Amino acid sequence: MADLEVLSTIRLEAQAQSHDVPAMGVWHRRVVEATEKLIAEITPQAAVAVTGFSEALAPTLRRGQLVVATELRTTAGSSARALPTGEVVANDLARRGLDVIAGQVVSTPRCPSGEVREALVRQGALAIDSDSFFVSQALGHRPLVVVRVIAGGPCCGPLSGGIRAMSSLLAARWSLERWAGALRSRTVLLATPRSFCAGVERAIATVERALERFGAPVYVRRQIVHNGYVVKALEAKGAVFVQELDEVPPCACVVLAAHGVSATVRDEASQRGDLLVIDATCPLVSKVHKEVVRFTSQDYSVVLIGHANHEEVVGTMGEAPGKIHLVESLEDVDALELEPGARVAYLTQTTLATDETASIVSALRSRFSHLTGPPGEDICYATQNRQDALRALVEHCDLLLVIGSSNSSNSNRLVEVARREGCRAELVEDETVINLGWLEDAEVVGITAGASAPESLVQRAVSTLQLLGPVEVREVQTADEAVSFALPRQLR
Ligand code: SF4
Repeated sequence: MADLEVLSTIRLEAQAQSHDVPAMGVWHRRVVEATEKLIAEITPQAAVAVTGFSEALAPTLRRGQLVVATELRTTAGSSARALPTGEVVANDLARRGLDVIAGQVVSTPRCPSGEVREALVRQGALAIDSDSFFVSQALGHRPLVVVRVIAGGPCCGPLSGGIRAMSSLLAARWSLERWAGALRSRTVLLATPRSFCAGVERAIATVERALERFGAPVYVRRQIVHNGYVVKALEAKGAVFVQELDEVPPCACVVLAAHGVSATVRDEASQRGDLLVIDATCPLVSKVHKEVVRFTSQDYSVVLIGHANHEEVVGTMGEAPGKIHLVESLEDVDALELEPGARVAYLTQTTLATDETASIVSALRSRFSHLTGPPGEDICYATQNRQDALRALVEHCDLLLVIGSSNSSNSNRLVEVARREGCRAELVEDETVINLGWLEDAEVVGITAGASAPESLVQRAVSTLQLLGPVEVREVQTADEAVSFALPRQLR
C-alpha cells in the first residue's frame, strides 16, 4: 500500500482533487521546476497521480469524460512512456459508472496546428495537455497514473468544460486512492486443475468442427457453455446462438449445448426432420439422464439434488417430467412428500459443491431407509478436482478470485466453497472487474477458474496484479487431469 500524491498544474485542477494538492503553474518551465521541487518533498514510496484538464483530440470524446493515459508522448513523437497501469485505473472508474476511456495522451508546451492535431489523431492520440509527459519524466520509475478530464484545452481556454469537468475529476479521486492502496508486492497461488474440463473442450471443439465441415452459420441452442468469452469467440467464427429450435432456419446445422436438453427438445429436433442436429451434451451429463430413465423405469421416486432453473437440471428433469423431486437444501428434504419406506433414488447435478451435497444425501438417508443412488458419483471429476485444488490453497489466501461467468454453476460453487472455508472470495468474469478495493490488504491472492472459463482469462488476471507490484506466481496442484471425450459421431 502506497501513499498517494496528486499533482496538478493549475489551482482549479488541484481544488477539484482536494484543497491541499499543490498546483505547479501553467508554464512549461514552471511545471518542470515545480515538479522537481515537489518530488524532493514527497516520500520515495509514494505513488503519484497527475490529474487535470485536457483538450479532446479524438472527435468522439465528450466534455467531462475522463481520459486515463496508457501512453504519454510529445507532439514530436520522439519520446513516449507506456503506463499500462492506466488500464487498471480506467477499469475501476468504469466499474463505478464514470465516463472514462483509456489511451494515449500527448503533452506539448505549445498549441499545435490543426495539421499536427489531425496527425496525432491518426496516430491514436485521444487528448492533449501541457504537462503530463514532462512531469512523468521528472518522476522516474515511481508508480504513476495520469487522469485528465476533457474540458476544452490550451487553445480555447482550460475552463470551457466548467463544472462538469471539475466534478468528474473529483469523482476520480476515490479510484486513485484505491489504486495507491492496492500497490504492493504479493504472491499469487494458482489452483491446479482449473479452467476448461473435458466436457467443455468437447463442446467447443464440436462447434468449431461443425463450422469447418458444414460452413457458417452453425446454430447453437443456448450458450454452448456458460461463458461469455467462449460464446463471443465462437460467434466471431460463425456460430449463431439461439434460445429455441424454432429460431433455426430450415435445413441448418444445430448444436445442442453441453448442459444437455430434455427429451422434449430432442423430439422437437427430430420432428423438424430438416435439421442436422449435433448433440454436444457432456457424456457425464448424459450419464445422469440415463440414470433417470433407469430408475424411473424401475418405479423409483427420483430425488434430484440441484439448482432450480439451471439448464442442466431442466434437461435432466425433462427426462421424466412429473416424476422427479428437485431438492436444493436440507429444508427441501424435510418437505418431500414421500413415505419413509418408499423406493427412493437420488441423483445430483454434476456441478454441485461436494460438501453441501454430502449433507443433503445424508439427510435423505436418514429419511429413507431404502435410499439408493447412482453407481458412481454424479458430481463430475472436473467439479471435484477444482474444489479440491481450491481447498488446498484457500487457507493461505487473503483473497480468492474465481474466474467465471455469473451463470456458471461450478464457478459459483467454487466461490461458495471458499467462503465456507473462511476465505474472502469473489467471482469475476474477467480482469476488468477486479475491484481495487479488494486488493488493499491482499498479500496472497488465490486464483482459480470454473470449468467453462478459458485459461487466457486467468493469465490476464495475473497480468493485472503484476501491474500493481511485483508478483510471485506459484501453482498449487492437487490432481493431474488427462480426461478427454470423443466428438459426437457426426463429426468423427
Ligand atoms: S463440468 Fe463436468 S459435467 Fe460439466 S461439462 Fe465439464 S466434465 Fe462435463
